[in-house]
Order: sequence, then structure tokens, then C-alpha cells
Amino acid sequence: MCGVFGIFGHSEAANLTYLGLHALQHRGQESAGIVTSDGDQLYLHRGMGHVIDVFPPEQIDKLKGTTAIGHVRYSTAGGSLLKNAQPLAVDYARGSIAVAHNGNLTNAEALREKLEERGSIFQSMSDTEVIVHLVAISTQRAVEDRVADALSLVQGAFSLVCLTEQSLIAVRDPLGIRPLCLGVMLTDPSCYVVASEASCFELIDAKFVRDIEPGEMIIVDRRGLRTSHPFPTERPRHCIFEFVYFARPDSVIDGVSVYEARKNLGRSLADEHPVDADVAIAVPDSGVPATIGYAERAKLPFEVGLVRSHYVGRTFIEPQQSIRHFGVKLKLAPVAAVLTGKRVVVVDDSIVRGTTSRKIVKMLRAAGAREVHMRISSPPNQWPCYYGIDTPTRSELIASSHNLAEINQYITSDTLEYLSLDGMINAVVKTGGGNNGTSQRHLPTLNAAPSLSRESFCDACWSGNYPIQFVPHPRHRQMRLLDT
Ligand code: AMP
Repeated sequence: MCGVFGIFGHSEAANLTYLGLHALQHRGQESAGIVTSDGDQLYLHRGMGHVIDVFPPEQIDKLKGTTAIGHVRYSTAGGSLLKNAQPLAVDYARGSIAVAHNGNLTNAEALREKLEERGSIFQSMSDTEVIVHLVAISTQRAVEDRVADALSLVQGAFSLVCLTEQSLIAVRDPLGIRPLCLGVMLTDPSCYVVASEASCFELIDAKFVRDIEPGEMIIVDRRGLRTSHPFPTERPRHCIFEFVYFARPDSVIDGVSVYEARKNLGRSLADEHPVDADVAIAVPDSGVPATIGYAERAKLPFEVGLVRSHYVGRTFIEPQQSIRHFGVKLKLAPVAAVLTGKRVVVVDDSIVRGTTSRKIVKMLRAAGAREVHMRISSPPNQWPCYYGIDTPTRSELIASSHNLAEINQYITSDTLEYLSLDGMINAVVKTGGGNNGTSQRHLPTLNAAPSLSRESFCDACWSGNYPIQFVPHPRHRQMRLLDT
């Protein structure tokens, strides 16, 4: 769960990267970092916390140069430590390189073991560091060939941006699991930007050009932009959870509007699981578009039955269990005027451990709801993600060990229903290149998405059908050197 950003050839590179990261903050709130290049030298700053706290203006001023990459992180591999913050930046025999990575490598431990046997010294627990070491030992000459060489050895999900003194490189793994797109500054068509999600282009006055293709590498340097496909072609498997929960609703990913996809998920949920009720409410913010779709299809009034405080982060995102438990109340408050005496349908995008839903149901009843019917716009989440979404171990996923009736009993709802796997995939596929109805000039030109089919998505966290096999490595080490 990370966001990456890159820009080549702009006098305000560090500032624009800061803004880009700010707009990608929903992808990770644990640490943030920016590396810039002035053509000779790289400048790095990373810190724990939100972008706005890590980068006071005087810090941004120190990041010189016209090219930059940046990263926001929530740890999925490696702990919540500054040394694991990204971008990772190193000096090696051929110069300097910085790397920012979204995704998870599935063979990082095995590669790391081999690298350590031949003498490599690792500074972090992050799987991304493996890539840096592989680039350093590659026998290729050109940096893009070294990066391609390194990536040919890794398996898993990577949407990557790399920075050298002279170039910006963006690469998306052959399955295109995590999103990555290309844009251009409106004021300067030679100034390219890359980002996890196009929704951040709006803020920096950039225009979406296109999604970076699965398996594609884009190189930008003083000669301009070149593209190559260094990996064997495979059928794409885009992460469907980006559409269900993770991405910003104003993003369009691989030709699919996230907002429209979520509304379609809600409509399909209403088709599959109607219920006699008086009002439909959302678990804000991520459940809102699905609830709008549900209410529209079920012909129920959509009301704001829960208000969200914007002064706390996402509860789940807090790594410590104790904070998360407290967090639900910190984050959500019921609106009694909407709820009192009503039969309420409450729509959320997913249930992970079940703790949020349980607290919400209790909160709604305490505020006067007569009945509470929980509807979830994705299927029961039973399998952990090995490709970069933070999900707990199988044993912590409530649906891996409890059936529908047991979960309903646990969360204390009157009824509980999930969208089916088929219903979810069809809802996203049929969204296709739909326009999200606005005419904003910076919005991505929506691709026709002709090739999207049921098979275009990774749904492993619901189906257990992993497109890249993951063999848990026996040696899950802790870093023994703690930099406090
Ligand atoms: P839980 O209490 O563990 O069942 O968390 C469920 C809530 O967390 C739902 O409201 C989801 O919107 C949200 N959620 C689901 N998956 C994630 C994730 N990977 N990271 C952060 N929040 C999530």
C-alpha cells in the first residue's frame, strides 16, 4: 500500500512532487520521501508520518534540481521504521540511483539470501532494497538495461519509479497488478509526470496521457521519452481491490472509473441482496459511491447516517491494534436524526477483521436504528494479499474461519450479505470505459478498455486464486539493528 510519483524537467520538481504525494496520501500514511536530481547529484529527504509533516517548506527548499521522485508508504513488507521508508537511494559503482516502489515482491527473501551470501549488506527490511542491489550488480551498461536486468529476476507486483542523476524511469510489472500512469504538465508538454493514480494530476495542473502498460518501461531523459517492453508479455491481472476500496474515487485506472465501478458494485449488491428498509447509509468515505448505487437501485433514500471526522487517519491504517479499536469511535459518529426508529441498510466496501462493522452496528443501534442490515460491496475476504495491499494473516481475516451466519452474529447485525465474486467482477468489467460524467479538462481520456474481461483482474484476496505463486520463506528475519 504505497503511492509513487515522478517528474522530469521542471524547475519546481520538489514542490510538485510534494503536492503529488499529498494527493496520493490515501495510499499510505506511515512515511513519505522525495529524492531530487540537479543533473549531477541526488538530494534525499524521508520521514515518518504524513507528507505535510515530513516536508516543511525549508525542507523542500533543500531538494534541488528539476527531476524528482517521491513515495508514500504503508508497510506491507518490512516494519514501520524510518530505515524502511522510501525512496531508497544509494551510490554505487556507476553513480547514484533512487527507487520508489508500490507493490510487493514474492521472491524477495530468497533473492536477499542469495545476495547476502555473496556479500551484499542490506540497510532495511524492505523488499525494494533487493531491486537496488540487483541493479548495482547487473553487468549491463545503460541504467535502463540494468533496471530491466534486475527486474527480470524479481517476481511479484511492482509499479516502480527510479531516478538517476540524468534520467527518470517508470516500470510496471508484467501483470500490471498495481496502477501506474503517465501524464504531462499542461504548461510544458515536454515535462512528463508519472504517478500511481491520475487523480493527483488535477492538483499539479498536469494532464493524463495514458496508463503505463503492464510490462512497460518508460525512460525520460534529455533526449525525451522512450518506451520499451523488456519482459515477456503476460495476460494482465489488475488488482480489483483498487476499485473496491483502495484507489481514490476520482481516479480512472486502466480505463475504468473507480467511482463508476463502486456505484456499479452497489447496484449489483442491491440486485443480489435487497432488503425491506427505510434508508440506505454509507460507511464513509470509501463506502459512499457503492451506497449511492445501492440506494438508487433499491429505490431507497440515501442519507448521511454516519459522519466521519477528517482529523484522524484511516483507522485500519494505524498499525497497532489498540489504536485501531479506539479509532472507530474517533473516526465515525452516528446521526440520530437519520437513524431513530428506522430500518437501516448500511453499506461498506469490505469486512476484514470484523471489528469496524461490529462497532458500527452497535453505534447505529445506540443512536436509535430499529434494524441494521449490513451490505458489503465485495465478497468475504478470506485470503491475504501478497502483492502490496495490507491485509492481515489468514487467521485474522474473519471470513477465513467464520461463515456468513457466524459473522452476522459477531457483528450483531439483523442481516448481513456480501456481493458475490461473479457480481463483483462483472460490475467492474461492465464499468469499462464509462465516463464519470464530468467535463474536467484534466481527467484522463478514458480508454475504450477493449481488452478488459473477467480474466483481466486479480481477485486472490477473495478467491485464493493467486496469479503469482507465493512460497512463504522460512526466514522471516527481524532487523536487529534499531536506529532510534
Ligand atoms: P475491519 O474492522 O478489520 O473489519 O476493517 C474493515 C474496514 O476497513 C472497512 O471499513 C474497510 O473499508 C476498511 N479496509 C478494508 N481493507 C483495508 C485495508 N487493506 N486497509 C485499510 N482499510 C481497509
